[in-house]
Amino acid sequence: MSSASSSAVLPAVEDRKLQDLWVEVLRILEPNMQRSQFITWFRDTALLGKDNTTIIVGLPLPMSLNWHMEHYRGPTLEAIQGLDSTIEKIVYKVDGALKDNRERSIDLLIHFPELKKRKMPGRQEVKMAEGIISKILNPRYSLERFIVGSGNRLAHAACQAVSINPGDKYNPLFLYGDVGLGKTHLLQATGNAILKTMPKAAVVYTTSEDFTNQVVEAIRTQKMEKLRTRYRKVDVLIIDDVQFLANKERTQEEFFHTFNALYEDNKQVIISADRPPQELKLDDRLVSRFSRGMIADVSAPDYETRLAILVEKTQDFELFLDMKVLEFIAEHTTGSVRDLEGILMQAVAQYELEQRMPTIKSIAEIMGKLTQNPMDEANDTGFEKVVKKRATFQDLMESTSRYYSVSIQDMVGTSRVHEILIPRQIAMYLGKKHLGITYVRLGEIFSNRDHTTVMNAVSKIERKAHNDPNLLREMRAIERELELV
Ligand code: ADP
Ligand code: MG
Repeated sequence: MSSASSSAVLPAVEDRKLQDLWVEVLRILEPNMQRSQFITWFRDTALLGKDNTTIIVGLPLPMSLNWHMEHYRGPTLEAIQGLDSTIEKIVYKVDGALKDNRERSIDLLIHFPELKKRKMPGRQEVKMAEGIISKILNPRYSLERFIVGSGNRLAHAACQAVSINPGDKYNPLFLYGDVGLGKTHLLQATGNAILKTMPKAAVVYTTSEDFTNQVVEAIRTQKMEKLRTRYRKVDVLIIDDVQFLANKERTQEEFFHTFNALYEDNKQVIISADRPPQELKLDDRLVSRFSRGMIADVSAPDYETRLAILVEKTQDFELFLDMKVLEFIAEHTTGSVRDLEGILMQAVAQYELEQRMPTIKSIAEIMGKLTQNPMDEANDTGFEKVVKKRATFQDLMESTSRYYSVSIQDMVGTSRVHEILIPRQIAMYLGKKHLGITYVRLGEIFSNRDHTTVMNAVSKIERKAHNDPNLLREMRAIERELELV
């Protein structure tokens, strides 16, 4: 950090000239790349020296060296040759002292001020023909950009099938899973895909809350009949989060009739919820309708899928993060894809506001996962190692077995006595929730149970914990011991 480590020994006047020349070079380079790339890779860079045929370009971080050599050496040389035709060669030099050193490197934000506005997904509504209100389908959601992994393969395939042949085999299509795992994405993407091939189709996407509001409004204004006829003209009805129809008898009733009418007309209905149909607190008739077609669960992504999602999302955000940083995030998160996005959004903010290229350390700060261990010196890659390891499933089994004084062998076994059943279900539930272990894998671990058995166990214990503060406390204790919360 100190100027003592500064390696350039050029007089100040010369420095200024070099700076000006470098700004000129950057002006040529900048329009040819995305702003985020430009900021990421050219921040705190400098022209350190120049002789008749060679320029020395200084880079603040060792990790950017390869990237520059691979991606920017040619364009940079070309740019400088446009300004000074005698230059034949670029030499790169990594100099940590360039970081935030305004004497030598230039402030990109001052010289290149425009900040591109980030596009935010629209939340508007559209009035469809006949006055039905549909949320605008967000074009950001497409089936192609949905990363497929073991937890969502079936759901994705079903959506694809529906998008090709709506109203056919998979009708209705019912997707369920925890929040933040991609249900809305899949629903909207399916709607988008249908509209692509059938631009005239009336594809209506609504949430169960909006649908309820429409029913309430129709009752108030005595226009129920009108609402009914309108909905019956829909080609594809997508309704998100139907668990919220619980206790809304009149809305359920209306939905039931709309559903039947559409279904009989071979119109596609796509539904999502946070749990499987039979666990919904809805009218039995609705539940049985929901169970008629295709049911697919969307569960938490495993490590590889998380990593693939991160790679995809960084491109989406025009953010360029080192693979090691992405791996770190994938390793230290579980469950929700929304959480992954949240971390990336903060990384974007960090580098847009502070012009700070996210590193493992800064990401760990964002995630609140930074260890204070003084042994954690920066290693030769320039990253800090984070020594704290995330709990493994083995840790989880051990903790649970200790807590309830039952053996791991019993836990994975087949005994159904209460004393063993509860810890077993807890381990399954926590493994699913925190470690993103799939139902199928859990089934294998627990004496080759069928994944639906595991699924039932998980939702059973989850429900139980809702109503039983003691059980919830016990689970929390285990979670805390493993630092999962
Ligand atoms: P849900 O409706 O299940 O709560 P969302 O569909 O809103 O979840 O997903 C949360 C965010 O995560 C969205 O921005 C979505 O695009 C993204 N997402 C979830 N799963 C994936 C995936 N497999 N590939 C790409 N993006 C995903
Ligand atoms: Mg959703």
